[in-house]
Amino acid sequence: MPVADYKMYCKMLERAREGHFAYPAINVTSLTTANAVLKGLAESKSDGIIQVSTGGGTFASGSSVKDMALGAISIAEHVHRAAERYPIYVALHTDHCQADKLDKLVIPLVEETERRRAAGRPNLFNSHMFDGSALPLKENLDIAVKLLERFQKNDLVLEIEAGVVGGEEDGVSGEAGAKLYTTPEDTLEVARRLNSIKGSRYLLAATFGNVHGVYKPGQVKLKPSILKDCQDAVVKQYGETARFYLVFHGGSGSELRDIHEAIDYGVVKMNIDTDTQYAFTRPIADHMLKHYDGVLKVDGEVGNKKTYDPREYLGLAEASMAARVKQAVQDLKGVGTTMYKK
Ligand SMILES: [Zn+2]
Repeated sequence: MPVADYKMYCKMLERAREGHFAYPAINVTSLTTANAVLKGLAESKSDGIIQVSTGGGTFASGSSVKDMALGAISIAEHVHRAAERYPIYVALHTDHCQADKLDKLVIPLVEETERRRAAGRPNLFNSHMFDGSALPLKENLDIAVKLLERFQKNDLVLEIEAGVVGGEEDGVSGEAGAKLYTTPEDTLEVARRLNSIKGSRYLLAATFGNVHGVYKPGQVKLKPSILKDCQDAVVKQYGETARFYLVFHGGSGSELRDIHEAIDYGVVKMNIDTDTQYAFTRPIADHMLKHYDGVLKVDGEVGNKKTYDPREYLGLAEASMAARVKQAVQDLKGVGTTMYKK
């Protein structure tokens, strides 16, 4: 199927919230990792989200160019073409973009979508995250409001974050402390500011003790009940239509029961990067260790071309990452939920 359009994407999000499941949103940095996600989703009969970070876009553009928007466009163009061959819907999203990087990633991508729309072509991306969580809430929301007004005109969904996710992602570290937990007061302010933009749609990454990166089981203390408190407060103040579509960041190493509880409180998108990075690299390490005298020219020998052909080990990596995507779909209770009909 082609990449989901705005209507289909909104329907995906609504169905997930009503049906108590969530979409994996997997970070990709190359054709191979994007293909792995499409394979894993299709084999799970689940729709899903492919996302590109600032660092992922930079990497995909090539080390001589280092243009995060260009790399993100290249990946998105590939997904638009390849997704046609899979019996599922996929949405394209960009991950964390701090205020100082908006002009390098989100704005050029919105401009690209505006050019495409003017030419009668579909949007390039479905949604973009603006991460203003390091700013005071008012500044965060001032920027978010401006973006959402422009997004609304272009059938784009905005993701914002209130409260800081701990840990490190793409070299940006979150601080530990009280802001690891979003408060109902914060989210009421989010709703007050953003819900005034009629006909718009946004996702909220609220934080409930989640951390980026990987931790041993038991080290991450999640409090999913915080999400319920935020939903209850916003529905009480503004009515059922204000209920949030929530995003779960930094979920590696989380207990399954915490993930399921978070889904019950309205999480519809769970970001996955660390776990799929490991799944990609694991079989490559295995291949290199098993075939060291094939991938290396040892003691004047010539090695074995078949084992050092990158297709050999990247193919194993693609299959392993696809399997991890399938596990994610299962964990998020999304198996068989695709809206695609033959
Ligand atoms: Zn994140």
